[in-house]
Amino acid sequence: MAMKLISIEEARSRVLAEAHPLPVESRPLAGTLGAVLAEDIVSSHSVPVFDNAGMDGYAVRAQDTVDGSPDSPSRLAIVETIPAGHVLTRVLGQNEAAKIMTGAPVPGGADAVIQSEVVEEVEGRVLVFEAVKPGRNIRRAGEDVMAGDRVLAAGSLLGPAEIGLIASLGRPAVQVHRQPRVAILSTGSELVEVDRPLGPGQIHNSNTYSLQALCRQMGVEPVVMGIVPDDYEATRRLMEAGLAHDVLVTSGGVSVGQYDFVKDVQDELGVTRRLWGVAMKPGKPLAFGVRDRSLVFGLPGNPVSVMVSFELFVRPALLRLMGYRKTTRPLYQAVISEDVTNSDGRVFVVRVRAWREDGVWHVSSTGPQGSGILRSMVGANGLAFIPGGARGVRAGEEVEFLLLREDLEEP
Ligand code: AMP
Ligand code: MG
Repeated sequence: MAMKLISIEEARSRVLAEAHPLPVESRPLAGTLGAVLAEDIVSSHSVPVFDNAGMDGYAVRAQDTVDGSPDSPSRLAIVETIPAGHVLTRVLGQNEAAKIMTGAPVPGGADAVIQSEVVEEVEGRVLVFEAVKPGRNIRRAGEDVMAGDRVLAAGSLLGPAEIGLIASLGRPAVQVHRQPRVAILSTGSELVEVDRPLGPGQIHNSNTYSLQALCRQMGVEPVVMGIVPDDYEATRRLMEAGLAHDVLVTSGGVSVGQYDFVKDVQDELGVTRRLWGVAMKPGKPLAFGVRDRSLVFGLPGNPVSVMVSFELFVRPALLRLMGYRKTTRPLYQAVISEDVTNSDGRVFVVRVRAWREDGVWHVSSTGPQGSGILRSMVGANGLAFIPGGARGVRAGEEVEFLLLREDLEEP
């Protein structure tokens, strides 16, 4: 099968057509950040469960304070102190008050809490200089959640607020789509591990590290299979083992060189190819297929190609497996700061620095754009797409880009 280049969008839709949400499991709440809920969360009780003080102060009966004024305060006997976590069983009687801490249950009889800052305490009495409105500083039972409320729907993405809300309902575990099991294998006889000195013709294996980090950034802990030399048998053995995972990601060996075995091995192992070749640079030689339920990505070897291909194809697939409906980052329009030529028919994916000025996005290339030049990936917070088959773009024209990192938005 000859390489038949397809567009980025077409390639991504072929990938996503094979990616289905993984089965559901019960997971302890603390491990659910970034997971997608697979059940509706219905509250069995109200939050708060009881009326409680919204301020440190004094629980009072509003009717006992109606005559209070700055010159002639109401004087109420302090019968008890109620710390948070304690319940006062007696009911306040006429002209009685209880000292109360934020979050403590409001005692029977009381219908307002007057904050400490505006009263005086003298010899066991609290002096109230105003008429207190009923309900003041009381957080009502159920004001956040009523028993029986559906507080979150299946399909919700779990972030810190959602996780906190579920915890407030006293739920220790929830049903979520299980995490994808991802295997990472780097191919190349020239590769050595980072803790080894380089021999002649050798380079350090960096793809394993960037791919592992890209997975971890999504909350996915991959299985690192290390390096396999460009040897057909060894590649076949390791890829076979890799196919035991939901996703196998290889880097390198997928082009048309004499020692590029990954595609042949995919074929021999029964991987049905869904695409080979994307009309983009970097990242053209991408071989993607499926075997049983496993997604198999043969990414190119160049370190930037690996990262760009992961962003555009692997990440969306992993998100879909995790149950996400939205799998791509939003695209924005930006004004580009320099001319970029692109005479070739492929989309040029340029590493850029993106920033906003007066409400307008701007992008600027981060430096030399060779597919092996990782330095220009460092400091890039976006990828800009320069259409192929034309003259490229001129400084001041608009291009589409996606924002990779929001922490680098400032110029
Ligand atoms: P390939 O696609 O196998 O021809 O590799 C393309 C380029 O990427 C070659 O220059 C490789 O040496 C380089 N390369 C491949 N794998 C890695 C890796 N794991 N780490 C760093 N560079 C790599
Ligand atoms: Mg290679």
